[in-house]
Amino acid sequence: MSRVAFIGLGNMGGGMAANQAKAGREVAAFDLSAQALARAGAAGCRPAVSAAEAVAEAAVVITMLPAGPHVRAVYEDTVLPNAAPGALLIDCSTIDVDTARAVAAQAKAAGFRCADAPVSGGIMAAEAGTLAFMVGCDAADFAAVEQALAPMARVVLHAGESGAGQAAKICNNMLLGISMLGTCEAFALAERLGLAADRFFEIASQSSGQCWSVSTYCPIPGVGPQTPADRGYDGGFATAMMLKDLKLAQEAAGRAGAATPLGAQAEALYALFDRQGFGHKDFSAVIQLLRGKVSELA
Ligand code: NAD
Repeated sequence: MSRVAFIGLGNMGGGMAANQAKAGREVAAFDLSAQALARAGAAGCRPAVSAAEAVAEAAVVITMLPAGPHVRAVYEDTVLPNAAPGALLIDCSTIDVDTARAVAAQAKAAGFRCADAPVSGGIMAAEAGTLAFMVGCDAADFAAVEQALAPMARVVLHAGESGAGQAAKICNNMLLGISMLGTCEAFALAERLGLAADRFFEIASQSSGQCWSVSTYCPIPGVGPQTPADRGYDGGFATAMMLKDLKLAQEAAGRAGAATPLGAQAEALYALFDRQGFGHKDFSAVIQLLRGKVSELA
Protein backbone atom coordinates (compact mmCIF):
# COMPACT_ATOMS: atom_id res chain seq x y z
CA MET A 1 0.00 0.00 0.00
CA SER A 2 2.79 2.46 0.78
CA ARG A 3 4.19 2.44 -2.78
CA VAL A 4 2.10 4.60 -5.08
CA ALA A 5 2.60 5.45 -8.76
CA PHE A 6 0.99 8.73 -9.81
CA ILE A 7 0.61 9.57 -13.51
CA GLY A 8 -0.66 13.00 -14.55
CA LEU A 9 0.66 15.81 -12.34
CA GLY A 10 -1.27 18.77 -13.74
CA ASN A 11 -3.50 21.28 -11.97
CA MET A 12 -5.25 18.54 -10.02
CA GLY A 13 -2.76 15.66 -10.00
CA GLY A 14 0.10 17.83 -8.74
CA GLY A 15 -1.62 18.60 -5.43
CA MET A 16 -3.05 15.10 -5.12
CA ALA A 17 0.34 13.40 -5.56
CA ALA A 18 1.85 15.82 -3.02
CA ASN A 19 -0.77 14.77 -0.46
CA GLN A 20 0.09 11.10 -1.01
CA ALA A 21 3.73 11.94 -0.27
CA LYS A 22 2.75 14.04 2.79
CA ALA A 23 0.92 10.99 4.16
CA GLY A 24 4.25 9.14 4.17
CA ARG A 25 3.70 7.09 1.05
CA GLU A 26 6.54 6.48 -1.39
CA VAL A 27 5.25 8.15 -4.57
CA ALA A 28 6.80 7.47 -7.98
CA ALA A 29 5.43 10.29 -10.13
CA PHE A 30 5.33 10.76 -13.89
CA ASP A 31 4.06 13.40 -16.32
CA LEU A 32 4.98 14.25 -19.90
CA SER A 33 5.64 17.81 -18.69
CA ALA A 34 9.13 18.27 -17.20
CA GLN A 35 7.82 21.26 -15.26
CA ALA A 36 5.02 19.25 -13.64
CA LEU A 37 7.51 16.48 -12.83
CA ALA A 38 9.89 18.95 -11.17
CA ARG A 39 7.04 20.40 -9.08
CA ALA A 40 6.14 16.89 -7.89
CA GLY A 41 9.79 16.29 -6.99
CA ALA A 42 9.82 19.47 -4.89
CA ALA A 43 6.63 18.28 -3.16
CA GLY A 44 8.21 15.04 -1.92
CA CYS A 45 7.50 12.63 -4.80
CA ARG A 46 10.19 10.69 -6.69
CA PRO A 47 10.20 11.80 -10.34
CA ALA A 48 10.21 8.63 -12.46
CA VAL A 49 12.00 8.41 -15.81
CA SER A 50 8.92 6.92 -17.49
CA ALA A 51 5.39 5.90 -16.68
CA ALA A 52 6.44 2.25 -17.08
CA GLU A 53 9.17 2.67 -14.48
CA ALA A 54 6.77 4.49 -12.13
CA VAL A 55 4.20 1.68 -12.12
CA ALA A 56 6.58 -1.28 -12.06
CA GLU A 57 6.78 -1.73 -8.29
CA ALA A 58 3.71 0.17 -7.10
CA ALA A 59 0.93 -1.41 -5.06
CA VAL A 60 -1.42 1.40 -6.15
CA VAL A 61 -1.43 3.17 -9.53
CA ILE A 62 -3.33 6.48 -9.68
CA THR A 63 -3.97 8.34 -12.94
CA MET A 64 -5.23 11.96 -13.27
CA LEU A 65 -5.29 12.67 -17.00
CA PRO A 66 -7.21 15.09 -19.25
CA ALA A 67 -9.75 12.81 -20.99
CA GLY A 68 -10.77 9.29 -22.08
CA PRO A 69 -8.27 8.82 -24.95
CA HIS A 70 -5.35 9.68 -22.62
CA VAL A 71 -6.55 7.18 -20.01
CA ARG A 72 -7.07 4.43 -22.58
CA ALA A 73 -3.61 5.01 -24.10
CA VAL A 74 -1.81 5.12 -20.74
CA TYR A 75 -3.61 1.97 -19.54
CA GLU A 76 -3.05 -0.01 -22.75
CA ASP A 77 0.50 1.13 -23.48
CA THR A 78 1.96 1.44 -20.00
CA VAL A 79 -0.06 0.46 -16.97
CA LEU A 80 -1.44 -2.94 -17.96
CA PRO A 81 1.82 -4.27 -19.47
CA ASN A 82 4.06 -3.02 -16.62
CA ALA A 83 2.13 -2.84 -13.34
CA ALA A 84 2.98 -5.31 -10.58
CA PRO A 85 0.68 -8.34 -10.33
CA GLY A 86 -2.29 -7.63 -8.06
CA ALA A 87 -1.81 -3.85 -8.11
CA LEU A 88 -4.84 -1.64 -7.47
CA LEU A 89 -5.45 0.69 -10.43
CA ILE A 90 -7.46 3.87 -9.75
CA ASP A 91 -8.32 6.39 -12.46
CA CYS A 92 -9.39 9.76 -10.99
CA SER A 93 -9.75 11.60 -14.33
CA THR A 94 -13.20 12.70 -15.53
CA ILE A 95 -13.84 10.58 -18.63
CA ASP A 96 -16.74 9.01 -20.52
CA VAL A 97 -18.52 6.05 -18.95
CA ASP A 98 -17.86 3.70 -21.90
CA THR A 99 -14.10 4.21 -21.79
CA ALA A 100 -14.12 3.78 -18.00
CA ARG A 101 -15.96 0.46 -18.37
CA ALA A 102 -13.72 -0.66 -21.25
CA VAL A 103 -10.43 -0.02 -19.41
CA ALA A 104 -11.84 -1.64 -16.26
CA ALA A 105 -12.72 -4.76 -18.26
CA GLN A 106 -9.20 -4.88 -19.71
CA ALA A 107 -7.64 -4.35 -16.26
CA LYS A 108 -9.75 -7.11 -14.68
CA ALA A 109 -8.98 -9.49 -17.54
CA ALA A 110 -5.28 -8.86 -16.87
CA GLY A 111 -5.75 -9.75 -13.18
CA PHE A 112 -5.80 -6.27 -11.62
CA ARG A 113 -8.25 -4.71 -9.17
CA CYS A 114 -9.45 -1.38 -10.50
CA ALA A 115 -11.70 1.63 -9.87
CA ASP A 116 -12.94 4.76 -11.60
CA ALA A 117 -12.87 7.53 -9.00
CA PRO A 118 -13.55 10.99 -10.46
CA VAL A 119 -13.56 13.91 -8.07
CA SER A 120 -15.72 16.81 -7.06
CA GLY A 121 -13.79 19.87 -5.89
CA GLY A 122 -11.26 21.95 -7.78
CA ILE A 123 -7.58 22.75 -7.58
CA MET A 124 -7.78 24.16 -4.04
CA ALA A 125 -9.47 20.99 -2.77
CA ALA A 126 -6.82 18.91 -4.58
CA GLU A 127 -4.11 20.86 -2.75
CA ALA A 128 -5.90 20.77 0.60
CA GLY A 129 -6.69 17.04 0.40
CA THR A 130 -10.43 17.69 0.65
CA LEU A 131 -11.76 16.20 -2.61
CA ALA A 132 -14.99 14.18 -2.80
CA PHE A 133 -14.41 10.91 -4.71
CA MET A 134 -17.22 9.01 -6.48
CA VAL A 135 -16.08 5.44 -6.91
CA GLY A 136 -17.05 2.72 -9.35
CA CYS A 137 -15.52 -0.63 -8.36
CA ASP A 138 -16.32 -4.13 -7.12
CA ALA A 139 -17.78 -3.91 -3.60
CA ALA A 140 -15.00 -6.19 -2.34
CA ASP A 141 -12.36 -3.69 -3.45
CA PHE A 142 -13.95 -0.54 -2.02
CA ALA A 143 -12.17 -0.60 1.37
CA ALA A 144 -8.78 -0.76 -0.36
CA VAL A 145 -9.76 2.06 -2.73
CA GLU A 146 -10.94 4.18 0.20
CA GLN A 147 -7.67 3.64 2.01
CA ALA A 148 -5.64 4.50 -1.09
CA LEU A 149 -7.57 7.74 -1.67
CA ALA A 150 -7.74 8.84 2.00
CA PRO A 151 -4.83 11.37 1.97
CA MET A 152 -6.54 13.28 -0.87
CA ALA A 153 -10.13 13.04 0.34
CA ARG A 154 -12.82 14.75 2.39
CA VAL A 155 -15.15 11.89 1.50
CA VAL A 156 -15.00 8.69 -0.59
CA LEU A 157 -18.39 7.39 -1.80
CA HIS A 158 -19.12 4.06 -3.48
CA ALA A 159 -21.39 4.65 -6.48
CA GLY A 160 -21.54 1.05 -7.74
CA GLU A 161 -19.67 -1.20 -10.18
CA SER A 162 -17.09 -0.05 -12.76
CA GLY A 163 -18.18 3.12 -14.57
CA ALA A 164 -20.64 4.12 -11.82
CA GLY A 165 -18.24 6.74 -10.46
CA GLN A 166 -18.10 8.45 -13.88
CA ALA A 167 -21.89 8.13 -14.24
CA ALA A 168 -22.38 9.82 -10.85
CA LYS A 169 -19.95 12.59 -11.76
CA ILE A 170 -21.60 13.54 -15.07
CA CYS A 171 -25.16 13.25 -13.70
CA ASN A 172 -24.22 15.46 -10.73
CA ASN A 173 -22.51 18.04 -12.93
CA MET A 174 -25.35 18.09 -15.46
CA LEU A 175 -27.71 18.82 -12.55
CA LEU A 176 -25.32 21.53 -11.33
CA GLY A 177 -25.09 23.17 -14.78
CA ILE A 178 -28.88 23.20 -15.12
CA SER A 179 -29.46 24.49 -11.58
CA MET A 180 -26.87 27.24 -12.02
CA LEU A 181 -28.52 28.40 -15.24
CA GLY A 182 -31.94 28.34 -13.54
CA THR A 183 -30.50 30.34 -10.64
CA CYS A 184 -28.95 32.88 -13.04
CA GLU A 185 -32.22 33.26 -14.99
CA ALA A 186 -34.18 33.81 -11.79
CA PHE A 187 -31.77 36.49 -10.49
CA ALA A 188 -31.73 38.19 -13.92
CA LEU A 189 -35.56 38.25 -14.00
CA ALA A 190 -35.70 39.52 -10.40
CA GLU A 191 -33.41 42.38 -11.43
CA ARG A 192 -35.68 43.32 -14.36
CA LEU A 193 -38.66 43.26 -12.02
CA GLY A 194 -36.97 45.66 -9.60
CA LEU A 195 -36.53 43.06 -6.87
CA ALA A 196 -33.29 43.59 -4.88
CA ALA A 197 -30.84 40.67 -5.28
CA ASP A 198 -30.18 40.36 -1.54
CA ARG A 199 -33.93 40.21 -0.84
CA PHE A 200 -34.46 37.55 -3.49
CA PHE A 201 -31.47 35.60 -2.13
CA GLU A 202 -32.93 35.58 1.40
CA ILE A 203 -36.36 34.53 0.16
CA ALA A 204 -35.29 31.92 -2.43
CA SER A 205 -32.75 30.34 -0.11
CA GLN A 206 -35.58 29.69 2.40
CA SER A 207 -38.25 28.76 -0.14
CA SER A 208 -38.81 25.96 -2.63
CA GLY A 209 -36.34 27.47 -5.17
CA GLN A 210 -33.52 26.73 -2.75
CA CYS A 211 -30.55 24.84 -4.18
CA TRP A 212 -26.74 24.84 -3.84
CA SER A 213 -26.37 27.34 -6.70
CA VAL A 214 -28.62 29.81 -4.83
CA SER A 215 -27.58 29.29 -1.20
CA THR A 216 -23.90 28.36 -1.36
CA TYR A 217 -22.63 29.56 -4.74
CA CYS A 218 -24.78 32.61 -5.52
CA PRO A 219 -23.79 34.16 -8.89
CA ILE A 220 -24.40 37.72 -7.67
CA PRO A 221 -21.44 39.64 -6.11
CA GLY A 222 -21.94 40.69 -2.49
CA VAL A 223 -24.91 38.37 -1.96
CA GLY A 224 -24.75 35.25 0.24
CA PRO A 225 -21.49 33.50 1.17
CA GLN A 226 -18.22 34.46 -0.58
CA THR A 227 -18.10 32.96 -4.09
CA PRO A 228 -16.16 33.52 -7.34
CA ALA A 229 -18.74 36.24 -8.15
CA ASP A 230 -17.06 38.31 -5.41
CA ARG A 231 -13.72 38.16 -7.21
CA GLY A 232 -14.74 38.95 -10.77
CA TYR A 233 -15.77 35.33 -11.43
CA ASP A 234 -12.12 34.21 -11.31
CA GLY A 235 -11.06 30.88 -9.79
CA GLY A 236 -13.75 28.36 -8.91
CA PHE A 237 -15.03 25.86 -11.49
CA ALA A 238 -14.13 26.99 -15.00
CA THR A 239 -16.80 27.26 -17.70
CA ALA A 240 -14.60 25.08 -19.97
CA MET A 241 -14.64 22.31 -17.34
CA MET A 242 -18.42 22.54 -16.94
CA LEU A 243 -18.76 22.37 -20.73
CA LYS A 244 -16.57 19.25 -20.86
CA ASP A 245 -18.79 17.52 -18.28
CA LEU A 246 -22.03 18.61 -20.01
CA LYS A 247 -20.71 17.19 -23.30
CA LEU A 248 -19.91 13.90 -21.59
CA ALA A 249 -23.45 13.85 -20.15
CA GLN A 250 -25.02 14.49 -23.58
CA GLU A 251 -22.88 11.81 -25.25
CA ALA A 252 -23.83 9.33 -22.53
CA ALA A 253 -27.52 10.30 -22.77
CA GLY A 254 -27.44 9.80 -26.55
CA ARG A 255 -25.94 6.33 -26.23
CA ALA A 256 -28.27 5.34 -23.37
CA GLY A 257 -31.40 6.75 -25.03
CA ALA A 258 -32.13 9.04 -22.05
CA ALA A 259 -34.11 12.26 -22.55
CA THR A 260 -32.05 15.19 -21.22
CA PRO A 261 -33.47 18.28 -22.95
CA LEU A 262 -32.40 20.67 -20.18
CA GLY A 263 -28.91 19.15 -20.18
CA ALA A 264 -28.78 19.84 -23.94
CA GLN A 265 -29.85 23.46 -23.39
CA ALA A 266 -27.24 23.84 -20.66
CA GLU A 267 -24.55 22.49 -22.98
CA ALA A 268 -25.59 24.91 -25.74
CA LEU A 269 -25.53 27.94 -23.41
CA TYR A 270 -22.16 27.06 -21.88
CA ALA A 271 -20.75 26.38 -25.39
CA LEU A 272 -21.90 29.84 -26.49
CA PHE A 273 -20.35 31.45 -23.40
CA ASP A 274 -17.12 29.50 -23.96
CA ARG A 275 -16.99 30.56 -27.65
CA GLN A 276 -17.26 34.17 -26.56
CA GLY A 277 -13.91 33.74 -24.80
CA PHE A 278 -15.04 33.08 -21.23
CA GLY A 279 -13.99 29.43 -20.84
CA HIS A 280 -11.58 30.43 -18.07
CA LYS A 281 -14.24 32.24 -16.01
CA ASP A 282 -16.14 30.51 -13.22
CA PHE A 283 -19.28 28.79 -14.52
CA SER A 284 -21.51 31.17 -12.49
CA ALA A 285 -20.29 34.05 -14.72
CA VAL A 286 -22.82 32.81 -17.31
CA ILE A 287 -25.26 35.15 -15.54
CA GLN A 288 -23.62 38.00 -17.47
CA LEU A 289 -24.64 36.32 -20.73
CA LEU A 290 -28.25 36.16 -19.54
CA ARG A 291 -28.12 39.77 -18.28
CA GLY A 292 -26.68 40.91 -21.65
CA LYS A 293 -23.62 42.19 -19.78
CA VAL A 294 -20.68 40.02 -20.92
CA SER A 295 -18.82 43.26 -21.66
CA GLU A 296 -18.52 43.74 -17.87
CA LEU A 297 -16.40 40.58 -17.60
CA ALA A 298 -12.71 41.52 -17.64
P1 NAD B 1 -4.28 19.22 -16.54
O1 NAD B 1 -4.33 19.36 -18.02
O2 NAD B 1 -3.79 20.37 -15.71
O3 NAD B 1 -3.38 17.94 -16.15
C1 NAD B 1 -3.30 16.78 -16.90
C2 NAD B 1 -1.85 16.31 -16.87
O4 NAD B 1 -1.76 15.06 -17.54
C3 NAD B 1 -0.90 17.28 -17.60
O5 NAD B 1 0.13 17.68 -16.72
C4 NAD B 1 -0.37 16.45 -18.77
O6 NAD B 1 0.98 16.75 -19.11
C5 NAD B 1 -0.51 15.04 -18.22
N1 NAD B 1 -0.54 14.01 -19.25
C6 NAD B 1 -1.28 13.95 -20.39
N2 NAD B 1 -1.02 12.81 -21.06
C7 NAD B 1 -0.10 12.14 -20.33
C8 NAD B 1 0.57 10.90 -20.51
N3 NAD B 1 0.36 10.12 -21.57
N4 NAD B 1 1.46 10.51 -19.57
C9 NAD B 1 1.71 11.29 -18.48
N5 NAD B 1 1.12 12.48 -18.26
C10 NAD B 1 0.22 12.89 -19.18
O7 NAD B 1 -5.76 18.79 -16.09
P2 NAD B 1 -6.39 18.88 -14.62
O8 NAD B 1 -7.06 20.20 -14.42
O9 NAD B 1 -5.38 18.42 -13.63
O10 NAD B 1 -7.57 17.81 -14.76
C11 NAD B 1 -7.31 16.41 -14.75
C12 NAD B 1 -8.62 15.67 -14.75
O11 NAD B 1 -9.38 16.06 -13.59
C13 NAD B 1 -9.53 15.98 -15.96
O12 NAD B 1 -10.14 14.79 -16.38
C14 NAD B 1 -10.53 16.99 -15.40
O13 NAD B 1 -11.77 16.95 -16.10
C15 NAD B 1 -10.68 16.50 -13.98
N6 NAD B 1 -11.12 17.53 -13.02
C16 NAD B 1 -10.54 18.76 -13.03
C17 NAD B 1 -10.96 19.72 -12.11
C18 NAD B 1 -10.33 21.10 -12.09
O14 NAD B 1 -10.87 21.99 -11.40
N7 NAD B 1 -9.22 21.31 -12.77
C19 NAD B 1 -11.97 19.41 -11.17
C20 NAD B 1 -12.52 18.13 -11.17
C21 NAD B 1 -12.07 17.20 -12.10
